[in-house]
Amino acid sequence: MGKQAFVFNAVIITLLGMCIGSFLNVVIYRLPRGESILWGRSRCPACGHGLAWYDLLPVVSFILLRGRCRTCGARISWLYPGVELLTGLLFLVLFWRFGVTAALTKYLFLSAVLIAATFIDLQHYLIPDSLVITALVGGIVLGTATGDVGAISALVGAAASGGFLFLVAVLSGGGMGGGDIKLAFVTGLFLGWPLAQLGLFIGICLGGVLAVVLLAFRIKGRKDPIPFGPFIALGSIIALLWGNGIIGWYFRFFSG
Ligand SMILES: [Zn+2]
Repeated sequence: MGKQAFVFNAVIITLLGMCIGSFLNVVIYRLPRGESILWGRSRCPACGHGLAWYDLLPVVSFILLRGRCRTCGARISWLYPGVELLTGLLFLVLFWRFGVTAALTKYLFLSAVLIAATFIDLQHYLIPDSLVITALVGGIVLGTATGDVGAISALVGAAASGGFLFLVAVLSGGGMGGGDIKLAFVTGLFLGWPLAQLGLFIGICLGGVLAVVLLAFRIKGRKDPIPFGPFIALGSIIALLWGNGIIGWYFRFFSG
């Protein structure tokens, strides 16, 4: 790819990511509230006033409105532009890592699902079944179409990650939610063995470190729930981007 074509594609994919991020904001807000994602226009959560198309431009509208509703002046959460920027950035990094390939579509889809799961879990301590089922269908269709991960690898990855968290849930007596188990299963299907297991391992390490910090600084008590979905997401993205390098390094290091 020429330099000009690369820059052009990078800009397009980032803008696409920001638009998908705008849609994910709708998903994140409406799915846990049982509202339809496809019908009904977006409204200000404070005054209920319907938003025009020029209020919904990713990031741009937030800046032009200086973070306030055009009608009632209520503050708009920074999470909205934050999710849009994050999605745009993640799309850009995935494009940079994988180029314009069939597998890229699968990874973009996975990253969108993981961002939605992360922010819903952070706010509501749950991962909706409808999101997991959407991811499952997408994973099967895109996985079959792209064939970047073999069927056996995908099934083993899904069963091992989902099964491990199921075991943790049983042994800890409810310390791990059903949504986490299902998300780990679906993510395993996308990444396959052994990338999925590396991702889960990274997620558990990061989650463990954060839990210790939160407890040490008394930000959270021993009984407070800490959502695990965001760590499944973060670990999986790290494994997707750099997992093969990490696994290669590991084996070189321990085989002398
Ligand atoms: Zn308003």
